[in-house]
Amino acid sequence: MLYSNLAVNEKGHLTLGGADTVALAKKYGTPLYLMDEDRIRENMRLFRDEMKAHMPEGSLPLLACKACCFKGLFRIAEEEGLGADLVSAGEICTAQAAGFSMEKTCFHGNNKTDADIELALDAGVGYFAVDNPEELEALEQAAARRGITQKILLRITPGIDPHTHKKINTGILDSKFGEALPTGQALTFFDLAAAKPHLSVEGMHSHIGSQIFSYQPLADAAEIMLEFLSMLRESRGFEAKILNLGGGFGVRYTDRDPVMNYREELRRLGREIDRLCDRFGLRRPAVILEPGRSIVGDAGVTLYTVGSVKTIPGVKNYVSVDGGMTDNPRYSLYGAEYTVLLANRADASADFSASVVGRCCESGDIIQENVPLPKPQRGDFLAVLTTGAYNYSMASNYNRIPRPPIVLLRDGRDRLAVRRETFADLLQYDL
Ligand SMILES: *Cc1c(COP(=O)(O)O)cnc(C)c1O
Repeated sequence: MLYSNLAVNEKGHLTLGGADTVALAKKYGTPLYLMDEDRIRENMRLFRDEMKAHMPEGSLPLLACKACCFKGLFRIAEEEGLGADLVSAGEICTAQAAGFSMEKTCFHGNNKTDADIELALDAGVGYFAVDNPEELEALEQAAARRGITQKILLRITPGIDPHTHKKINTGILDSKFGEALPTGQALTFFDLAAAKPHLSVEGMHSHIGSQIFSYQPLADAAEIMLEFLSMLRESRGFEAKILNLGGGFGVRYTDRDPVMNYREELRRLGREIDRLCDRFGLRRPAVILEPGRSIVGDAGVTLYTVGSVKTIPGVKNYVSVDGGMTDNPRYSLYGAEYTVLLANRADASADFSASVVGRCCESGDIIQENVPLPKPQRGDFLAVLTTGAYNYSMASNYNRIPRPPIVLLRDGRDRLAVRRETFADLLQYDL
């Protein structure tokens, strides 16, 4: 199995965190997002404890909640002592509604509107990761009107290609995010920020990409950022309190993806940061990481019911399910890979191969192609693994399809965390 929280029981049913997925599909209906809360907590504790043990004082993981955003997840993050990385006013409202400690949040985004800035200041977000000079100016004015000093980080593009998929790669120079270091714009940006009386530059932020399976690209980014900090100390007398290196640790979507030992990679990253600080003669800044996918990815499984099974002789087979790009748009967006199983016959051998497709009116509404399966029939349950990240948060109501519920699994018990959308929900905005 792809993860240790997945197994097959005596009935041949797929289990997640020990719970029978077929029984849960029958209880809650499909499509259904299942999330293994025990696994989410394990992942959170791992980041929290390793960063505390092997990184400078004050180091902390922030849950990148764009990976998955609902109130229950903020409550879990709060209980486990994490902060949160927020990228929109909607995410800020969700964190607030969950009673999250807003001083432990960092507000990101390449185009925060004036309204976003006001809302974030009202909410008391801990840090703004300021992306550009226009935002800097708008935030300075808003903070001045309130007579406060807002803590900020500066979003820097270090110019690193972590060799991931281009569309989810944000650290290279050609990026809509941040100010570039190699072009000198980052330095100009720092000087502008340092001159703002109502903003306090606490440190720097970079995020180089996603699905990274080694500490090395993050250590490369740390080296570039620390070198920049050392130059700022010498030329500007600036001492950074925080180095935020963003998120990006990878998860396994298929057995072709490597198994990543987060614990070991975090230790290595910590050691490397220590070594770099010594080399540059810098006081060690607190390290912030923003794991999203690596906290929730392997906790999620999506369940569907099979509708039709169609064979086009000499061409291919299609298996249609009762969800699709509305609950998981990642294949149609960028060809993301997934492992697909028949949940109610998880131990049967795969004698069939098919494109698993959704029910939207789009030929591109595909969950995965060339999927080996035991030949399914109408009424079977299909499971897509590793859907905890960027599935629910990217879901839409295309074709007026209601979004599925989220059920959390903890200590062998299941509970509804987000209820299924109703047709009344879909109609509520129409006047
Ligand atoms: C997307 C993003 C993250 C989270 O990335 P993961 O790959 O899910 O860990 C963290 N920080 C920033 C700024 C991001 O844009």
